[in-house]
Amino acid sequence: MVKRASPLQIYKLLDRSNCQSCGRKTCMEFVTDLLERRVKLEDCPENHLPAKKRQQIQDLIAPPQSPLEFGKGDRMVTIGGEEAFHRHDLTFFNQTAIAVEVYDEMPDLMDVVKYLDGFAVFRIGENLTLDAIAIRCTSNNPEMYAKTVKLVADAVKIPLILCSFNIEILSAAVAQIKDKKPLLYAATKENWKEIGKLAGENNLPVVCFSTNTDELVSIAQSLETMGVKNIALDPGTMIGPGYSSATLNKLMQIRYSAIRDGSALTKYPTIGVPASIWAIEKPKSDDDFFAVQYKEALAAVMMLSVDVSMVIIHSGRTKEDVWMPLALMTYRQNIFTDPRIYPRVDAGFFKVGNPNRKSPIFMTSNYRMTKIPVEQDIKDSHIDAWLLVVDTEGLGIEAGVAGGQLSSDKIAEAVKEFKVFDAVDHRVLVIPGMAARLSGAIEDDANCYVVVGPGDSSGLQKYMEKEWDLDKYMKEYNER
Ligand code: SF4
Repeated sequence: MVKRASPLQIYKLLDRSNCQSCGRKTCMEFVTDLLERRVKLEDCPENHLPAKKRQQIQDLIAPPQSPLEFGKGDRMVTIGGEEAFHRHDLTFFNQTAIAVEVYDEMPDLMDVVKYLDGFAVFRIGENLTLDAIAIRCTSNNPEMYAKTVKLVADAVKIPLILCSFNIEILSAAVAQIKDKKPLLYAATKENWKEIGKLAGENNLPVVCFSTNTDELVSIAQSLETMGVKNIALDPGTMIGPGYSSATLNKLMQIRYSAIRDGSALTKYPTIGVPASIWAIEKPKSDDDFFAVQYKEALAAVMMLSVDVSMVIIHSGRTKEDVWMPLALMTYRQNIFTDPRIYPRVDAGFFKVGNPNRKSPIFMTSNYRMTKIPVEQDIKDSHIDAWLLVVDTEGLGIEAGVAGGQLSSDKIAEAVKEFKVFDAVDHRVLVIPGMAARLSGAIEDDANCYVVVGPGDSSGLQKYMEKEWDLDKYMKEYNER
């Protein structure tokens, strides 16, 4: 793997004044956050970081695979920019973007693009959405394509990819929506000069396409010489026996050569197009249709597995084949969750349903995969309750108790901070079964009566029906 700049190398280039203009307490904290891409180099102002040193740092932190941005505003997409070949080597910073293709002659085009624009699924604390719409030109008519693209761009916020090998068609569309910063697909050995000029003049990113890797790299180099700054590579997607592995090998070789060997020739993000199977296989029956769809899904999953920077799929534009983007987004979420960082949610005191002053207070940790299922189990059990979420640094109950991140004094602090017992007419706290050994200490530290609930929140409904007895608990609390 290409050697990463050390924090000390960067630190030495700063003025080390700890002036805090960047919002960090010290220059070293800024360096740590810079390497994790939590701050930008521009956050350290000119008077503390002169241009020459800024450039030196920029060169040190530039990832071996360059990033590419397209689209505008909140939905802007960044692909590539990776430093690690495998997720366990370091962190993947930009997850594989998922784009869905449509075409300009599509009868229900506007309904489809609005559906894709608004497509969102909330899963384990994250809103999963699609990243882009690729608009193919099937009309072969520059005017019609440009008009359609403009209508789409005005109706949606999701970034767009303009797809045609014909310079006239791309030029007409760019004239309409260049301010939305679309991605141009694609420059080939036949059209690269014209596409390069169009991209350069309008400062737009471009995908290069060739099934020959040497040729692909040469097109990218030529574009770069013309001043095109944002480039991605599509080495062609073939699906089927023998072809799928060849496709995957090409995509992996490009990444390998950039990230492992540091080759400037292949430093660009990669694009895979599982949608291309529909141009090869024309299904004649429902069974054929599903077989092609599964092959497309398989190709997309394989590409996600090797961190291809973006995939363009065909399926997923109707509610009938919603399983395809759902499966890909779920898989992507699992791959791109950083294993070094425990997924956490905010600590706090929350209402679940419509709790009142006699409702139970359940306690849990701020590990995302604990808090969200617990909340869901309470809702599914139709219990109106209060939920106290304690900051355990993102650890679950069992690990938090073992490691000290969930302790009686932390719980007492949370009870005090969130004024938990001000919301009710009792002092009863229900803790998870796995935190049972803290119960005595919590009663002392938080001045409350602790009830040990079930080991798993799926047992809460049964617990409430069979065991919850607020009067008894309060009587015992008052008699102490
Ligand atoms: S603004 Fe620059 S000089 Fe000031 S603390 Fe941040 S990194 Fe250091």
